[in-house]
Amino acid sequence: MLKLARTDYHIHPHYSIDASRAGIKDYCYRALELGLAEICFTTHLELDPMRTEIDNFAVLNGEKVPVYNRAWLDQYFVDIERAQDEFRGDNLQVKAGIEVGYCRGCEKDIENIIDSYPFDFVLGAIHCLNHISISSMKDSPRFFRTRSLSQVRTEYFTTLKEAVETGLFDAIAHVDLYRRYGFRQFGPQILTIHRGAIEPIFREMARRGMGLEINTSSRRRGLAEFHPSREIIGLAAEAGIKIFTIGSDAHSLDQVGECLDEAQALLEEFNLVNHVYSRRLATPFPARSAGCNR
Ligand SMILES: [Zn+2]
Ligand SMILES: [Zn+2]
Repeated sequence: MLKLARTDYHIHPHYSIDASRAGIKDYCYRALELGLAEICFTTHLELDPMRTEIDNFAVLNGEKVPVYNRAWLDQYFVDIERAQDEFRGDNLQVKAGIEVGYCRGCEKDIENIIDSYPFDFVLGAIHCLNHISISSMKDSPRFFRTRSLSQVRTEYFTTLKEAVETGLFDAIAHVDLYRRYGFRQFGPQILTIHRGAIEPIFREMARRGMGLEINTSSRRRGLAEFHPSREIIGLAAEAGIKIFTIGSDAHSLDQVGECLDEAQALLEEFNLVNHVYSRRLATPFPARSAGCNR
């Protein structure tokens, strides 16, 4: 029987500067339409002081505000708590998360923010290397064109290792994100740069009880595989990682829930289990068969 994924653990509501105008409740209604049991909002938090004018922002009441201005976080939690109350009766669990772009030297600032609010889920991501966004079509060529493949490999995995060792994050988002735009520069060679580099990092994540995200957004960008690839998921399993989350990385309503069932099926191939988080503690989310979703 087809198993259905019923969680989307990576959603950007209008608090993110690169998201559509859809708000927390809009996403909740969409999740209900799709039959999801649980969603987690993961607004961006980017704190690199070299990028203050680029992406150190959130959106509050339609206006861009510096991400350090806690007013947006206060409102974010008010919105999420209202939605939690409103949708509880519909059996939709709504969680408060954040997607933190790791930046060397920002550890204290990250810690101050994540410790000040009752987050359910803190997702760590490597979005920038050497202050250049590797996830931006416009910016990333500046990074990839000025480096050899071996330099990309060293910079990415050194930064990832540091991010893991900070202990600040519950899980790591789209762990092979460099494939998104690096492929254009390096071709298929970039698909294997993780070999020999990612295994010790995964062992450390397993030791710390950290989670790994299956991020389906690669599909809408024309990549054949999810982030991470099947091979990398296998390496994560071998290294002993047990906690996985599934997220669409939706920046608009139409992207919610994309390919979640396929991601769930992929986890099952490796005997891995989807998880949800409450107040930063993970629990397995049992896949339920179609027809008994309540
Ligand atoms: Zn991201
Ligand atoms: Zn995201």
